[in-house]
Amino acid sequence: MSKIIAREELKGIKPYALGKSLEEIKTDYNLQVIRKMSDNENVYGCSPQVREAISKNLNQLFYYPDGTTSTLISKLARFYNVPKSQFIIGNGSEEMIRLLTRAYIRHGDEAIMADITFPRYETNVVIEGGQPIKVPLNNGTHDLDAMLEAVTEKTKMVFVCNPNNPTGTIVGKEELFDFIKRVPENIIVVVDEAYYEYVMTDDYLETLPLLEQFPNLIVLRTFSKIYGLAGLRVGYGIMAEDIVTELAKVKDVFNVNHLAQHAASVALEDQGFIKHCAKKNSEERVYVSKALTALGMQVYPSETNFLFVCSKQPLVTLLMEKGFIVRGLQMSGWAEAFRMTLGTRKDNDAFIETIGQFLKESVV
Ligand SMILES: *Cc1c(COP(=O)(O)O)cnc(C)c1O
Repeated sequence: MSKIIAREELKGIKPYALGKSLEEIKTDYNLQVIRKMSDNENVYGCSPQVREAISKNLNQLFYYPDGTTSTLISKLARFYNVPKSQFIIGNGSEEMIRLLTRAYIRHGDEAIMADITFPRYETNVVIEGGQPIKVPLNNGTHDLDAMLEAVTEKTKMVFVCNPNNPTGTIVGKEELFDFIKRVPENIIVVVDEAYYEYVMTDDYLETLPLLEQFPNLIVLRTFSKIYGLAGLRVGYGIMAEDIVTELAKVKDVFNVNHLAQHAASVALEDQGFIKHCAKKNSEERVYVSKALTALGMQVYPSETNFLFVCSKQPLVTLLMEKGFIVRGLQMSGWAEAFRMTLGTRKDNDAFIETIGQFLKESVV
């Protein structure tokens, strides 16, 4: 044990619990098949064109990557019709969260977020010495009125995860617009849209057209979810140009690797694949939600590729023993709830059948 003392702020931070590796689970429970439904990856993989883009770039690996990620930014700018100067690319959108707290949160600042939501907001705020202000969800959805009431003179940042991870819910269009209007202009509003492409409802606010009117608004998106590139780490933020300038000061120079930049550029162009995945996912979302509800579970209405499921008894370990890896939420105070990533129809049928079996056995 060393005698070195870390920064005070790190005391309250628990390392992110990644749990057992898939290999360990396989051996421990003597399983043939494992279905990873814990991390909201795209079960359909990524665009087939990504493989070619990567192999074409393999002989370039001795070069540093493009530190300005110019090709990818140009493509995103064209795709969204937003000026290039308003984009910044991160090593996953998780890095974007870190850059934001690094650049803007100081000791004593408050950052408002939902309870429960994506845990990286809280962790990064705490690392910078800020105070997370956690506002309980209302029936699985952000309580924007309560979040607005939580604003004080110390508030620096507000996180709205839309759709919310882990509940899968969205906030209504009017409601979010009204919220953005009412947050004072010296407070950053971060809208994390990691699951943007999965949203099907019309009652969803398009935030990009609002960037001009609200220069304190920041939109985060990622290539990790529907684009199927979680292993390569590419996410991005869209915001006022002066905020991009500040974030660029705190980012690593070569934060996004060469293969990731090329893969993301190509993946963006294959919108046929994205539409296909969104459609398939929404069919599975309806199918699994109905089946689990029929089995007596409670499922929040989801606009994502995952479901937040409440059962009457804890099922996470039982499911793991059968090879279904889901995300338990006991750390967030929900012993009986879990988050499951929607699978293919075959995986989903196996999942539903297994849950049905558990219930039958527990009745006997
Ligand atoms: C998965 C996820 C992210 C992180 O995505 P990366 O781009 O892989 O870092 C960010 N926000 C939310 C809400 C997520 O669910």
